[in-house]
Amino acid sequence: MSDYYETLEIPRSASQEEVKKAYRKSALKFHPDRNAGDKHAERKFKEISEAYEVLSDEKKRQIYDQYGADALKGAAGMGGHEGHAGFSSMEEALRTFMGAFGSGGGGGGRESVFNSFFGFESGGQEEGGQSGSSKKMNLTISFEEAMRGTEKEVSLTNYVTCSQCQGSGAAQPSSIKRCATCRGAGQVHQSHGFFNMSSVCHSCHGRGKTISEPCSGCRGSGRIKEKQHVKIKIPSGVDTGMRLRMAGYGDAGESGGPSGDLYVFISVEPHSVFQREGDDVFIELPLNFSEAALGCKKELPTPHGSSCRITVPEGTQSGKLLRVKGEGAPNVHNRVRGDLIVKLLLETPVNLNEAQKNLLCQFAETEKEQNSPRKRSFFDKIKVFFSNP
Ligand SMILES: [Zn+2]
Ligand SMILES: [Zn+2]
Repeated sequence: MSDYYETLEIPRSASQEEVKKAYRKSALKFHPDRNAGDKHAERKFKEISEAYEVLSDEKKRQIYDQYGADALKGAAGMGGHEGHAGFSSMEEALRTFMGAFGSGGGGGGRESVFNSFFGFESGGQEEGGQSGSSKKMNLTISFEEAMRGTEKEVSLTNYVTCSQCQGSGAAQPSSIKRCATCRGAGQVHQSHGFFNMSSVCHSCHGRGKTISEPCSGCRGSGRIKEKQHVKIKIPSGVDTGMRLRMAGYGDAGESGGPSGDLYVFISVEPHSVFQREGDDVFIELPLNFSEAALGCKKELPTPHGSSCRITVPEGTQSGKLLRVKGEGAPNVHNRVRGDLIVKLLLETPVNLNEAQKNLLCQFAETEKEQNSPRKRSFFDKIKVFFSNP
């Protein structure tokens, strides 16, 4: 998937007017009406429609700028996502195309032809005000908190709905007047011969109402900046790189528009003993020589705070992995635990006293090559280097 800005050939700083202009130009060039049967043009048209659908919507554009196209497709994270950028059909792409011309006004002829040809109504702006911005924050939690889940309180400075006017932006309810230009519809209709075009009303920006005396608390915007304390519930099993979506915890919308969301990016601190890989958790267990040779039983802590017993078999080699089923990390989606994987590390004895050395010497006398299959195989392999002249 190419970059939406590149697709429309505009800089990342492009204004809404520039986005619309660039889209208009390319959409007309690659429109299926002009390129019947041309697969390349069809693909281009879908691509530019998809880019336009995102970049023309401030909320989607902001999410795209911060997190990329995947964030809009709900690929990652646990909260799901309402935004959806891909077009499954040509019809959808065309609908976007028609929508773009609905609010544009002017230049009638060509759009009207498309309108009648495809039989779509041109759309206007959504009801209510503009939606609030979504926010991003990073949150670091301990390994134990990630294992059992936790709740964290964070403070955010958000735009919230003004309590003085309940978000209307008006000093009194009576200062809200129906827009005289569009008579409250938010759209104005123009006739071009047979065809009817509608566009967003410029007097009220599609709201259908105007305010004669703005609210003194928010100066008419309907919202104010305020520090808030938010409790974030973190499910057990979260891991570094996961993202939580807190719907509605972003900025409040303008003029009663919907609130944005809060995206919480999780980091889990590394643990001194446990190491997580997916839903499995690794732990290293040092063994001394006699424990590995004779076998033993060991008690080990588990990542979720209990303990488990493992049996080290006789003749264990260094580096061997023992798997303890169901004692790993809980899966964040279904809570099913992975495994605890114990890596056995054999320690060569150090700082031996005379008595211990004597015992080992006695043991060495009894040791035969066939007692060390790995060693025997190694010396068999390298013999050839010494016997060659
Ligand atoms: Zn207010
Ligand atoms: Zn109006």
